[in-house]
Amino acid sequence: MRYAQSVADLVGNTPLVRLTRVTDGIAATVLAKVEYFNPGGSAKDRIARRIIDAAERDGLLRPGGTIVEPTSGNTGVGLALVAIQRGYRMIFVVPDKFAGPKVDVLRAYGAEVVVTDTSVPPEDPRSYYSVSDRLVREIPGAFKPNQFANPNGPLSHYETTGPEIWRDTDGRVSHFVAGIGTGGTITGTGRYLHEVSGGRVRVVGADPEGSIYSGGPLHGYLVEGVGEDFWPGSYDPAVPDEIHRVGDAETFEMTRRLAREEGLLVGGSSGMAVVAALRAARELPAEAVVVVLLPDHGRGYLNRFYDDNWMRDHGFEEQAGAAGPGPEAP
Ligand code: PMP
Repeated sequence: MRYAQSVADLVGNTPLVRLTRVTDGIAATVLAKVEYFNPGGSAKDRIARRIIDAAERDGLLRPGGTIVEPTSGNTGVGLALVAIQRGYRMIFVVPDKFAGPKVDVLRAYGAEVVVTDTSVPPEDPRSYYSVSDRLVREIPGAFKPNQFANPNGPLSHYETTGPEIWRDTDGRVSHFVAGIGTGGTITGTGRYLHEVSGGRVRVVGADPEGSIYSGGPLHGYLVEGVGEDFWPGSYDPAVPDEIHRVGDAETFEMTRRLAREEGLLVGGSSGMAVVAALRAARELPAEAVVVVLLPDHGRGYLNRFYDDNWMRDHGFEEQAGAAGPGPEAP
């Protein structure tokens, strides 16, 4: 019989699929690594497993312990999958602006969710940061994974995502493209691919306009899971060979095209990474093999950029309702 011992054992080994429509006019092979095939629906399952394994090994997490993390999304789901398998209690601290379907998913996995007030400053005892720190202090046996500082995040990608790409392309990958959030994906995967290829693989980052990684003025943006306003320890800026800034309009247009033209219902950070991948691929010869990582599923965003009214309300007039490829973004 061929079966997994638990759903947490199904993390990783996600497939590569060739993009054939949005790559019109491009000679290179562009392959998407589709992370929604992970059991929690995102690349974050990888870091969750590595972080919990390391915490157990280092004695930070013991039987009956509690995992406390400020997260409203994919990291929470990944941690929940592993916590369920190993019998840990889970508490996720969520800013009230993110309450909604994503948080309902965490509750469905049996996690406790503490909703915090976004309107108060970080030093206020009611803030997102203060509440999670207090819970870790007060709950005996509590462990905070802290994905923005935990080295096991990038390590999980160094040990799994990178080797999978190398193996599945028979070492022919020439470019690796990923969005940057905590930076764990690009740091770990990029470092592995640089090392294994002797520096031949070019690592390309994608960053929302307004975020810190690509320079330029900081401002708000709507794509979720990527970009930052501070430099986290989980990111090594020496890894990417180049970084592309991508605006929300282009990001959401491409994300919608991936669903309609490629049948890939993915999150907005996937569309952003594909925009960067196509920019990098445009000048490349036919032998080039560009692998772009698509971090999560699109089902969590149906009431956002997949909704024509939401698009119009947020000023993305042209893309809303477009049946096929939208007009070229400026
Ligand atoms: N996309 C989504 C949807 C995410 O949740 C994340 C993780 N924050 C990323 C992209 C970026 O991945 P990383 O944190 O490894 O840079």
